[in-house]
Amino acid sequence: MKSSFILERKPEGDAEVKALIASIIIDGTGAEPIRNGIVIIEGEKISEIGPRGEVQIPSNAKVIDLEKRTIMPGMIDAHLHLMGVRSYNPAESIIMPHDLQVLRAAEDCFKLVKAGFTTVRDCGSSIALSLKRGINEGSILGPRVYAAGRPLSQTAGHGDIHFLPREDVISHGVLLCDGPDDCRRAAREALRDGSDFIKISTSGGVGSEKDNPWEAQFTVDEIKAITYEAHNVGKRVASHAQGALGVKNAILGGVDSIEHGYFLDEECVELMLKHGVYYVPTFALIEAYKRSVQTPYDMPQWRLRKQKMCIEAMPKSLMMAYEAGVKIAAGPDYFGAPLRAHGDNADEVIAMVRYGMKPMDAIVAATRNAAECIGIEKMVGTLTPGKEADVIALDGNPLENIESVKYVAYVMKAGSTFLSP
Ligand SMILES: [Zn+2]
Repeated sequence: MKSSFILERKPEGDAEVKALIASIIIDGTGAEPIRNGIVIIEGEKISEIGPRGEVQIPSNAKVIDLEKRTIMPGMIDAHLHLMGVRSYNPAESIIMPHDLQVLRAAEDCFKLVKAGFTTVRDCGSSIALSLKRGINEGSILGPRVYAAGRPLSQTAGHGDIHFLPREDVISHGVLLCDGPDDCRRAAREALRDGSDFIKISTSGGVGSEKDNPWEAQFTVDEIKAITYEAHNVGKRVASHAQGALGVKNAILGGVDSIEHGYFLDEECVELMLKHGVYYVPTFALIEAYKRSVQTPYDMPQWRLRKQKMCIEAMPKSLMMAYEAGVKIAAGPDYFGAPLRAHGDNADEVIAMVRYGMKPMDAIVAATRNAAECIGIEKMVGTLTPGKEADVIALDGNPLENIESVKYVAYVMKAGSTFLSP
């Protein structure tokens, strides 16, 4: 059946009531699915959920029968970048016309909703805060956006673009900072921009030329200055950390989530458990890294060399954390380039299952856990009465075939239907 994109006008006057019916409902909490279930929506919120027979359909409800499909919460991508780039050249977003960058990013927002993502966390992009504003005011279609805005990096760190003049990096929207006082200033700059959380890098990375994943970046004192400023105003800090030392420093410095964590050791896992830190393994990248060996697109040699180094370690780290019970949230770190195109973000859930996670746990990673990682679990992430009605329906049952997460037939965000079969 062909799906079509429609945008419903917001209901006026009395809240509109809808009843979604489907053969399977996965509520995002990890509980057993509901067979032959109904979700009742009043206005923007979920009012009731349960099996047919137990839940009565109100007489004024508009019934949307999704038949043999699976209903689940709108997916949440806990790590992406809305940058409007289509290339692996780290300077592309500086060279290309800014207008084109924004137009492409707006298209990416549209693709994300169509792919069933009703909320995303942007982990660093100079345009994401404006995209968020455009979506919230109704100018463009897109998911709910939580954005870091300008990321913080030490000089010569992962967020620095090593081959460009320093002034270009700063004007492009990276907050280069060194020493606790300067890090405090940079954190306050990000907060001044309106960042929803602060993104830092505490290790080198794959996409930065002159550093390496195992090298730690920022001292614990620098990290503490940043987390103090964020936590003081009720915001979180997410850290790009690939090598074990960068992971440990980040946790000891007080960050709330570890992004990537490709080279975890047992101490990293113990610290994540002890401090209740979320792990966002950006695991879909293992497939992108593997495929790039055959088809490198315009990736520079140094990137290809570092990608290869990560392939072996990534599944070991994921499984070590998973089996120990670390809270895992899904986010593929896609940014728009080939192999990492927006719209394919459910690749993360598929990759997690392919390398050993149970399908239900991978779904929870992309729903409840991702909401908790962002700190919006009271609003979205599960199909629970009182929460925003972010609901999708899939062709097929993802518990039997995880690839179903890419066959999105229906999308509702905050009670409004965006995609309908
Ligand atoms: Zn990222």
